[in-house]
Amino acid sequence: MTTIASQSAVFHRSLHSDPISVVGANGNYLHLSGGGKLLDATGGAAVSCLGHANKRVKDAIISQLDVVSYVHSATFGTDAAEKLAKALVESTGGEMSKAYIVSSGSEAMEAALKLARQHYLELSPPQPQRTKFIARHESYHGTTLGALSISGHKARRAPYEPMLLPNMSRVSACNAYRGMIENETEAGYVDRLAKELDDEFQRLGPETVCAFVAEPVVGAALGCVPAVRGYFQAVRAICNKYGALLILDEVMCGMGRTGTLHAWQSSLINVTPDIQTIGKGLGGGYAPVAGVLISRKVTDTLFAGTGGFSHGQTYQGHPVSCRAALEVLSIIQEEKLVQNVAAMGEKLEQLLKQLVLPLPHVGDVRGKGLFWGIEFVNDKTTKEPFDPKENVATNIHEKGLTDPHNITLYPGNGTVDGRVGDHILLAPAYNATAEVIELIVRKTAAVIEEYFRQGK
Ligand code: PLP
Repeated sequence: MTTIASQSAVFHRSLHSDPISVVGANGNYLHLSGGGKLLDATGGAAVSCLGHANKRVKDAIISQLDVVSYVHSATFGTDAAEKLAKALVESTGGEMSKAYIVSSGSEAMEAALKLARQHYLELSPPQPQRTKFIARHESYHGTTLGALSISGHKARRAPYEPMLLPNMSRVSACNAYRGMIENETEAGYVDRLAKELDDEFQRLGPETVCAFVAEPVVGAALGCVPAVRGYFQAVRAICNKYGALLILDEVMCGMGRTGTLHAWQSSLINVTPDIQTIGKGLGGGYAPVAGVLISRKVTDTLFAGTGGFSHGQTYQGHPVSCRAALEVLSIIQEEKLVQNVAAMGEKLEQLLKQLVLPLPHVGDVRGKGLFWGIEFVNDKTTKEPFDPKENVATNIHEKGLTDPHNITLYPGNGTVDGRVGDHILLAPAYNATAEVIELIVRKTAAVIEEYFRQGK
């Protein structure tokens, strides 16, 4: 029988070790119980977009607790939820018409999938045969069974495979580093991926597909991989051709992270989704909050149909979470932080390419805004990934936490040709200064250099 070594009463992911105890957090730093501090280069999993201990957000949360802490949103509305939804809709330039607020990205994805289905049930005439979804192999859309069913992340799916929904299929991700054939142009690559998607619609029967689901910049599953130019226009055209919806999952890459408030607003992505999910940076870690932004096309169908969404959760539209998110969004807008993300993103890119890309075993650095991934390979020429048993990304993350580095690096692995590829992800706060960006890159380079020099 396995002995459980952990002294913690909390059910953490590992029962064999205790988590690092954080006793304080301020700005770009986490303060640890032993007296040390860590430079937070990742904001958890790209969450803490304003850094830690933001006084405005704290005061907003407290003031909301004085007004109303909770009501059931099936019957009651609050100023906090209304104002957040209005601000979010406005932030899309009116492309989206409603916001549905929940507590996590997984819940937002569940809601998005059900909304798509309900849209076709209530369309005139109804299309009840649309029950299928197409996503991409290297993708992660959440941990709950519906969201995991649409996800392609093999390792996260594996234990639950027999429990996952059957009507979800996948095509290749848009991943220039691994997917483009030698001498292929971006346009040629887009054509090839578009054909694969078109073929998948044909294979399933185009009239049976509800939606195509994708992250504009792939986060955890690949490590900050932006689509190549023209890809999303091509998939949008295929969705339009077959009357299917386009769902963009911006839980990780949205809310300013990649240099525009919504990733689809960038010239690189340049399409409007029918349904969009947001999370992480929406609440900046100050409250558990995520959301679904819904286009007029879909809300019009529901208005003309049953007039509601057959879905609901106890904590949806939670006033305190909404108030926190509203304040985070106001700060992002007032302090022009999206512009800072774009400017600091350029600096981060330049320094990563200068100081990290040339290091041994660094195969690729890629990303957008303040969302960058570093992929490790056993062989830089062949791009052969490391054996998953070596746990390269996790080990690099753990080395980062030790003296003298003291930095958080978010580890991940995707599937590369059926094997696990290692990467770490950087996601500094939107208000990071040039000095902080430089410190992050220098520390990251030192961790990687030391890890491979000392031998894994
Ligand atoms: N979608 C994407 C793209 C994500 O990266 C994640 C989480 O990492 C989720 C959905 C699920 O969000 P949550 O962990 O808040 O449930």
